[in-house]
This record gives sequence, C-alpha cells and structure tokens, in this order.
Amino acid sequence: MATTAAAKRKPTPPLVPFRTHSPQPNASKDTPLTHVFFHQPTSTWTYLVVCPTTRKAAVIDSVLDFDPVTNTVSTETADGEVVKYWDSNEEPAVVLRGGETLRADVVIVADGVHSPARWLLTPHARKAAEKIPSGYSVHRSAISAEKLKADSRCSHLLDGTIRTWLGPDAHACTYPLDNGNGLAFTYTHRDDGSLASLDWRDKKPIAGMLKELQGWDPVLLAALSHFPSSLHWTIVDEKPEEEWISAGGRICFVGDSVHPMMPTAFQGGSQAIEDAAAIALCLALTGGRPDGVPLALETYEALRRPRIKEAQALGKLQQDLWHQYLPPPAARRRRLSRSSDSSTNAPGPSRPSLCPLTFALYDYDVENYVLEHFETFARAIDPDFVLKTSWREDAARKANIALD
Ligand SMILES: Cc1cc2nc3c(=O)[nH]c(=O)nc-3n(C[C@H](O)[C@H](O)[C@H](O)COP(=O)(O)OP(=O)(O)OC[C@H]3O[C@@H](n4cnc5c(N)ncnc54)[C@H](O)[C@@H]3O)c2cc1C
Repeated sequence: MATTAAAKRKPTPPLVPFRTHSPQPNASKDTPLTHVFFHQPTSTWTYLVVCPTTRKAAVIDSVLDFDPVTNTVSTETADGEVVKYWDSNEEPAVVLRGGETLRADVVIVADGVHSPARWLLTPHARKAAEKIPSGYSVHRSAISAEKLKADSRCSHLLDGTIRTWLGPDAHACTYPLDNGNGLAFTYTHRDDGSLASLDWRDKKPIAGMLKELQGWDPVLLAALSHFPSSLHWTIVDEKPEEEWISAGGRICFVGDSVHPMMPTAFQGGSQAIEDAAAIALCLALTGGRPDGVPLALETYEALRRPRIKEAQALGKLQQDLWHQYLPPPAARRRRLSRSSDSSTNAPGPSRPSLCPLTFALYDYDVENYVLEHFETFARAIDPDFVLKTSWREDAARKANIALD
C-alpha cells in the first residue's frame, strides 16, 4: 500500500525552510539544527530537527507526509477525509473521499466538535447529546502579528502571556501564538440565543463587536481593531455523549467529538490528549490484541468519564465566577430588580479569586491513573479479566513509567 501511495503522489519542489534556528556559537557540536517549514494552505508548522554529528533527524508535527528521499512534503494523508464508517465487531473500516478503504482492529474517531462521524456512524440509532444554549456566545479569531507589532498601544500583548479582561457578564482573552508572530482572542458575552449561531462559519465583521466593547480597556480595543472579522458561536451546555463506542465495540470517540468543553475550561485540547494517552494504554493493558479491543475501549470510557465531567463542570463554574465578578450592566440590573424572584435580588457572593480554576486539573497524570486503576475498572466490566504481568510491563514501558 505504501508503494502505491508513493507512486500516486504528485512531485512537489523541495521546500525552503521558513526559518532555521542555528545553535549558539558556544553550543556543543551535538546541538541540533531546527528547520521550520510553514505550509500555508493548511496553516501548519512542521519542524525538522537535525543532529549535525549523527545526521539523524526527526520530523515534529508530521501532519504532512514527508518524503525523506526528495525532501518534500505533501498533505495527502492529512487531506484524507473520512466519508463513511463500517462498524463491525471484527474489523471496522473507514472509507476516504478518494475511495480508499482502511480496515483495522480498532478505529479512534477524533473529528472535533462538529463530529461528522457521530452522524455517519449511527445516524438513527445514536442519541445525540442535547445541545442546550448556555445563554452565552463567543467571538473568536486569530491573525498574524505584523500590524500588532507596529502598534505600540498593544504590541506587548504578543509577549507570551495569556491575558483576560473581565466585564459585566462578559470576558475577553488574548492568546499570543507562534512565538509572538500571531494573536488570537476570544470574547464571551451574554446572548439570549439570537446573536450567534451553531454554524462554525458564522463570521462577523469586527465593527459590531467593537461597538459592544465600548468602554473596555483601550489596549484590548486597539488590538482587536486589527482583526477584520471574528467567528461568532453560540456556547452550548453539552453533556458528554451518552455513547462513546460504536455498537460493534471497535470504533471509539475521543476529544471534542464526544465531550466538548466550554471555552472557559481551557481543557478541550488537554482532555483530548489525555483521552489519547488513556486509550493507548488501555489497548496495551489488554495485551495489544484484536480480541482485547472491546474491553479496552469500554474500560477507557469508564476511566475517563469522571475526569471529563469534572473538567466540564469547572468550565461552567469558571465562566460564572468571571461573569459575576463585576456588577451587571445598568439595564440588566433594572431587569433583575423588577424580578419577583427574591433570590435574584440577593447581594452577590463575595469576590472570588481570579486564579483560573483549570489549574486545579493540572496535578494529574493520566498514564499513572490508568496504570493504577485499569484492572479494577476492567474487572467491573468483565469479572473474568486477568491482567497479565507482561501486558502491564509493556504498558508501563510505553508510558515510560517505572513499576514498583
Ligand atoms: C481560541 C481557542 C483557544 C483554546 N484554548 C485552549 C486551551 O488553552 N487549552 C485547551 O486544552 N484547549 C483549548 N482550546 C480547545 C482545543 O483547541 C480543542 O478542544 C481541541 O482542539 C479538540 O481536539 P480534538 O482533537 O478533539 O478536535 P480538533 O482539534 O477539532 O480536530 C478535529 C480534526 O478532525 C478533522 N476532521 C473532521 N471531520 C473529518 C473527517 N470526516 N475526516 C477526516 N478528518 C476530519 C478536522 O479537520 C480537524 O482537524 C481552545 C480552542 C480555541 C478555538
């Protein structure tokens, strides 16, 4: 199959690195040289790290296909859109848009918050988690930093620090990207459901948002004025999907496709990565055998659900804390004071700490957790399961964990 793919691949001219980081003059002779490549169409940065002595090299973020013979990259694999899933209790498969069918012992679906797989897989049988509008929406965008760098009012926002501004029932964050060469922002605000949409392409000119932000910090406004537009999404309170595994027991969802997080959890990416680490170990702990896949996936789900629930709840709580930090705007206050519900007139809680709650989730090692608890959870699902020492040792070796 590899030969066929190589033969089909269209030749592309050798890439010129965007930048090359040379070692400092006093560095050891083994200090690697890093070539940075940028692929505009996919906005992907790929790093080629080369040891000058051994000439060994590693490709980091190898989302692109890399041909070491011609030193060229292509996006053939990354472009392989899955258009169909074959659920099976023996050999599930995915079908790519080009018609290629890939069969496997297990299929891990990580197709993001809009997960087409949820519908492709079992469009009728699967009950989708209810999407309840949270009463808030979020503007998001990212730009490269040329104009920001030249603007002394806000160029310091590129200094590597994530900053948060709190407003009445609203907050905004800026995120420097790519070593200060880009900036992203989010602005989350009250929305009764009429302003934004669930369509991820719902792009709005920035002017409307800036109007809403009148009176906010001039530094933030200066930075945001460089963004031409933003994506404007409704935030929904999404519970994790009820089903994480296909009926055949061999196709499993991870990340946003099965448990989206509110932006204020700052955990969507982290939990997706934890899922991936957990699932890899679960497969190893059932011996890395095709027969072990169904139990590995079920145990993965059982191990992960409580952690996901905690991260999701924390995102909601964080938003509430930040949005109630300042008194509501006058109009809203008037509305609240007219309310007959006495609880809405109660004085607000004392001001909470501004420290992001997400920090509480950092002191957790998913691989250690899975290694420690896998057997208990697996036996709750299959009382006959016996964890072989060799499987445990293999899993620990893969996770680089020393066993007692
Ligand atoms: C502005 C912003 C700030 C954020 N900050 C943080 C943060 O600080 N910390 C954090 O942990 N998270 C953060 N997140 C959230 C994080 O980016 C997501 O939760 C995370 O990317 C989810 O990972 P995923 O792999 O599940 O899905 P995604 O990263 O969405 O990946 C899904 C992939 O599947 C592909 N795909 C979809 N359909 C198909 C198909 N049919 N065939 C093939 N491929 C398909 C998509 O093209 C996409 O590449 C932030 C998000 C945003 C937008």
